[in-house]
Amino acid sequence: MSTSENPTLQPRTQAFLKGPQKMLIDGEWAVSENEAVFESIDPGTGKVLTHIPLAGAKDIDKTVLAAQKAFSGTWKSSPPAQRSLLMWKLADLIERDIQIFMELETLDNGKPIGKAEYDVKSTIAHFRYYAGWATKITGSTLPSAENQLVYTKREPLGVVGLIVPWNFPLMMCAWKLAPALACGNCCILKPAEQTSLTALYLGKLIIEAGFPKGVVNIVTGPGDPTGEALVRHPGIHKISFTGSTAVGKNIMQKAAQSNLKSVSLELGGKSPNVIFADAPMDKVSKALHWTSFYNSGQECTLGSRIYIQKEAFQQVVDGLIEETKKLQMDIGLKDPDLGPLISQQQLDRVTKAIKTGNEEGGDLVLGGERFTVPHLQNGYFLEPTIFVHNNDSLQLVQEEIFGPVVVVSAFDSFEEVLARANNSDYGLAAAVWTTDSSKALRFADQMDAGTVWINGYDQFDPAVPFGGFKQSGIGKEMGESALQLYTKEKAVWFNY
Ligand code: NAP
Ligand code: MG
Repeated sequence: MSTSENPTLQPRTQAFLKGPQKMLIDGEWAVSENEAVFESIDPGTGKVLTHIPLAGAKDIDKTVLAAQKAFSGTWKSSPPAQRSLLMWKLADLIERDIQIFMELETLDNGKPIGKAEYDVKSTIAHFRYYAGWATKITGSTLPSAENQLVYTKREPLGVVGLIVPWNFPLMMCAWKLAPALACGNCCILKPAEQTSLTALYLGKLIIEAGFPKGVVNIVTGPGDPTGEALVRHPGIHKISFTGSTAVGKNIMQKAAQSNLKSVSLELGGKSPNVIFADAPMDKVSKALHWTSFYNSGQECTLGSRIYIQKEAFQQVVDGLIEETKKLQMDIGLKDPDLGPLISQQQLDRVTKAIKTGNEEGGDLVLGGERFTVPHLQNGYFLEPTIFVHNNDSLQLVQEEIFGPVVVVSAFDSFEEVLARANNSDYGLAAAVWTTDSSKALRFADQMDAGTVWINGYDQFDPAVPFGGFKQSGIGKEMGESALQLYTKEKAVWFNY
């Protein structure tokens, strides 16, 4: 039985998977110009779920024209309250179809269906939060000379390209679409090739909600050629990208070479998770396996570098190993703790990093092997893996692995661990666990990262800005800050 005929799926999920899948261009469902397609794989079984159109440069040209027409035709001057209402409607429709989204996300990405539910709920919250902002984007009146009025206003950028990764497919679409639409832009969304399904299903609801044609377009295909064509296009005014640091750098160069379109980047991380001996240990022991392995480690913020103060080291590591051993792994529809990795390619990448870690002299204390119980042998399952080390220069410690692999090391003092936590090209997030508030706040002040959690981890809210320092990114998504990413500020001098 193929996954698409799985009897536990909603009939509408099954019908959607039967396809054919099409892209949303100018309010119509479209195949690619040469009818090229690629396979969408279920990473839990390795089976083909469906086929997706592969957009080339000509498809992108057509899409940009449609988005430009929609922008200058109606959307640019649409009343903000209308935008707000459409976004609110969209959120209601996503809520209505939550089960379909959960099933599609689970099949396409592999994640446990309970975790997919969190993603969809967070998507709904995101659209509602920015529906509120659409009517509250203001400029200011500035002090000026007599007989002068000087004011600023925030205007939409025009056509924006939104490129998202595969680890939180639907949620990442919402992080970009919601603020971009609230600010009055027309959008061209490109999901990751591994996970296009929830974005395409969202397209159905965008039509149903009543968004004018061309305001939201969804094109599918790989980084090259589909993503590249967006990045190079002179008719696009901004690229908002979430993905790896390497691709982010490449995008910045190409954006500069084309029309100097603006770029915002949410990139990789190697976040330090610092546990002092005076930490609230009950909280630590409940959280640490999740802060290490949530989403099978495929999350940019995860605490993949753990530092534990010497006095507590053995107790905390033993607890982590014990809790990690209890994590259940299975296909996402069975709602285990952990699902598979996204692809064979990712499994190979992570396996290679583990091999390098072993060769470099990291001490492998748990996992490290492909997880192959008979019914999962065709999926991309990897055991949660823990290395102990005392050398921060190891590749294992410096490079983002983006899989279920953490590195753990002991430290003596505050100054030592602060220096080691900051010794990274990345600066996405960090956490510190201690019952000493002064120490916690000093750490938060001196940690060079865009988000710091104290006695908690991986907390997000649409109202709270999120984005990396150093090579983890440029610009802040979420909160009021995201409005800066999707508007340009104009100053007007009126001499009366
Ligand atoms: P990726 O390879 O950088 O891809 C991200 C997106 O960019 C995908 O849609 C990809 O398309 C597209 N892309 C690839 N090459 C491109 C190019 N030359 N021009 C334009 N678009 C291109 O990253 P990934 O492997 O999907 O995701 C994992 C990475 O994302 C990790 O490094 C992780 O830390 C980062 N991430 C960061 C955040 C954050 O908020 N900071 C959140 C999630 C993930 P295809 O995949 O279809 O080829
Ligand atoms: Mg897939």
